[in-house]
Amino acid sequence: MNKDKYIVKARELIRNAKNIMVLSGAGLSTEAGIPDFRSKGGLYSHDFHGYNPETVLSHSFYLNNPELFWEYLRTELNYTDIKPSESYKLIAELEKEGRVKAVVTQNIDSLHPDAGSKNIIEIHGTLKKCFCDTCGKEYPYKDMMKKDTPVYCTEEGCRGIIRPAVVLYDEDVPLMKDVIIAAEECDLLLVLGTSLLVYPVAYIPQLFLESGKEVIIINRDETPYAMAKGVTEINSSIGTALKIILDTEGISDTEELD
Ligand code: NAD
Repeated sequence: MNKDKYIVKARELIRNAKNIMVLSGAGLSTEAGIPDFRSKGGLYSHDFHGYNPETVLSHSFYLNNPELFWEYLRTELNYTDIKPSESYKLIAELEKEGRVKAVVTQNIDSLHPDAGSKNIIEIHGTLKKCFCDTCGKEYPYKDMMKKDTPVYCTEEGCRGIIRPAVVLYDEDVPLMKDVIIAAEECDLLLVLGTSLLVYPVAYIPQLFLESGKEVIIINRDETPYAMAKGVTEINSSIGTALKIILDTEGISDTEELD
């Protein structure tokens, strides 16, 4: 199948679907200006004080090196001024039209809610809520992203360590149950910008395929699901592909796919 045929197939699947689940990853946010992990130039391409990002973003690292952990968030994951891209807005629009029933995201940048999506499962949590791990006192995200804000709780007698409400690398993903329930209600999975290498999220397409449901994947690099039966994978930039698939523009536009 060439790219044109994949586009036609994806368009048809989306038109015929009643309840779509969107599954998004860091690749959906690159067009908003946030680097992903595994693309060329992504966060994995450089160490931080000799540590790789998975180590820095682990619960044990946060407990043992809170200052360095926060330095990493402030320098590498500072999303204070980032706005949702056009693709985020298209997804929110599809939800308003009643076509998208659930958005499951691995992203911790909260761009889905910022774009207006409502029924969202932020499976890895959000950076935009910060709290003390001991007394629960909340701290504004914008303050926490400033260089010299203390990382220990300022409540008298507390001294807990402030953390963002994200799932760290050696922690459980508590919302997987909710994803499984939402998936039962959906008849099509639209995957946007994830390498599908991080579990348990990488298992979600399998859930759909096992129930005989179709999966569309738009991702620049090929994913492990590319050749699976029931999968239509388009290896292109999301901004271009999504507009062509959802738009009324002609199919010949696929020539512009990058
Ligand atoms: P990943 O880096 O493993 O994969 C991203 C994929 O997106 C790549 O395969 C790449 O080819 C593709 N991609 C990048 N830009 C694209 C574009 N414009 N159009 C189409 N495809 C594009 O990321 P992941 O699979 O989401 O998993 C990494 C983990 O990192 C997640 O758990 C996530 O929580 C975390 N993370 C989140 C953010 C964020 O919140 N924005 C940023 C970096 C990492």
